[in-house]
Amino acid sequence: MNIRIGNGYDIHRLQAGRKLILGGVDIPHTKGLLGHSDADALTHAIMDAMLGALSLGDIGLYFPPSDPQWAGADSQRLLAQVNQLLSDRGWHISNVDSVVIAEQPKLKPHIHAMRDRLATTLSIQSDQIGIKATTHEKLGPLGQEEGIAAYAVVLLQK
Ligand code: MG
Repeated sequence: MNIRIGNGYDIHRLQAGRKLILGGVDIPHTKGLLGHSDADALTHAIMDAMLGALSLGDIGLYFPPSDPQWAGADSQRLLAQVNQLLSDRGWHISNVDSVVIAEQPKLKPHIHAMRDRLATTLSIQSDQIGIKATTHEKLGPLGQEEGIAAYAVVLLQK
């Protein structure tokens, strides 16, 4: 069996007046993630893991922040494009596993919706997507609610 593995990481700053979008889900909170696109750190980490698995670079290469067409972009649309790059090469996702580090808000009530949304975008089943949420135990910038970070690992097969 032909398999490839990739990992990805992303972090965005939290700021008042922004929507908090994680895994394509709009999560009610007093602050949201700041970025050129919708700043969905989880989706960006997954995209980088997918690209990394095939040594195709990183999302900055395909969706540069300097390009105005990605301003405020829905990251699910970008994720679908990355998925297309994989399928064009004959690869498909075996599974995704991820961790989101957020001191606040509590993500547990939203994990199911995030898995469903990502699975729909990736045309896979939600049981192929793992999402864990953890706090940073109040330590450092993540623990002080200055931002939210995400790690992802993706296994591809052909
Ligand atoms: Mg990002």
